[in-house]
Amino acid sequence: MKWGLIGASTIASAHMIGAIRAQTGNTVEAVLSSDATRAREFAARHDIPHADTDLAVLLGRSQIDAVYISTTNEKHFAQAMAAIAAGKHVLCEKPLAMTVADARTMVEAARAAGLVFATNHHLRCSGAHRAAKAAIAEGRIGDVLSMRVFHAVMLPEKLRGWRIDNPAAGGGVIPDITVHDADTVRFYLDEDPQRVVAQALTSGLGKGVEDSVMSVWTMPSGIMVQSHESFTHPFAGSGLEIHGSKGSIFARNVMTQLPTGRVTLVTAEGERDLAYDSYDLYEFALAEFNRAVAGHGRPAADGIDGVKSLAVAMAVREAALSGRAVDADYGGY
Ligand code: NDP
Repeated sequence: MKWGLIGASTIASAHMIGAIRAQTGNTVEAVLSSDATRAREFAARHDIPHADTDLAVLLGRSQIDAVYISTTNEKHFAQAMAAIAAGKHVLCEKPLAMTVADARTMVEAARAAGLVFATNHHLRCSGAHRAAKAAIAEGRIGDVLSMRVFHAVMLPEKLRGWRIDNPAAGGGVIPDITVHDADTVRFYLDEDPQRVVAQALTSGLGKGVEDSVMSVWTMPSGIMVQSHESFTHPFAGSGLEIHGSKGSIFARNVMTQLPTGRVTLVTAEGERDLAYDSYDLYEFALAEFNRAVAGHGRPAADGIDGVKSLAVAMAVREAALSGRAVDADYGGY
């Protein structure tokens, strides 16, 4: 598969180019930036043959089969729609769009065109999360009663641009991290949050957008979910806890881009760490994407997963702004 990168971004540099090139037969053919110098420098740094500043030029390259979109969030919709119109498969960063309606339009356009559309929710790819989910499915904690997610980190200096001061670009911790947590909870529990209550604020970094949020989600099964995201917590660590009628799982430092962390099962028999496979999360996502394009299965997180994680995040923001309980609006999905 030959790829075009839409966006000369940090995530493309740090993780995705390597993950693409780790797949047999996958190459990166072109990168698009809004700035010619940045496009050229990015292409040179990563040994990419073409540096484009015009989306139509990149999409007009007939050798390109798929695009990876990692621009700021407000650009995803138009770029994905153009890529789909050009017949390219799409791996799009989260949040898919600025509204659930736009995200759904992207997903439906890809479906109508017979193209694979995936959302880059990496956490569900992690060996640690898969091991914890498998333990739950085996009944090792009994009936699940509640789940707590904590994903409160200190945003690295190099990422403190649009994320903390630009609502028009999709800034704020809710579109940035709550979407990931929504996807992770959906992955674990195989159900979609119905209703949320939330409080959000700026606690030192955000200017015009929230940098911290806590929320509680009502699940159709009655399982209680609590979620905490922040950009301002240097030592909180990340993780999740799943509590059941016969045991609990404590997963520490697992809400990360790296295959790290510790998963501990606690039951009446005592405490033991669960073994898990350690591999690159993004390579896993790319492998699943390749298989889906070849007609086998679906991407690790597909377009509907991206719409739903966005819908939960939007509900959390509306709940925080209004002080009311808000139903998640999945746009018909
Ligand atoms: P960056 O800020 O690194 O890149 C976003 C855009 O900023 C780029 O497309 C680029 O525009 C522009 N840009 C890059 N460098 C500069 C610069 N020096 N001066 C001015 N503009 C610059 O964003 P991230 O890589 O952190 O995030 C991109 C997307 O990926 C977002 O949607 C985010 O939510 C998502 N993301 C997902 C992660 C995951 O694990 N799934 C992790 C991190 C981010 P241009 O392309 O026009 O050059």
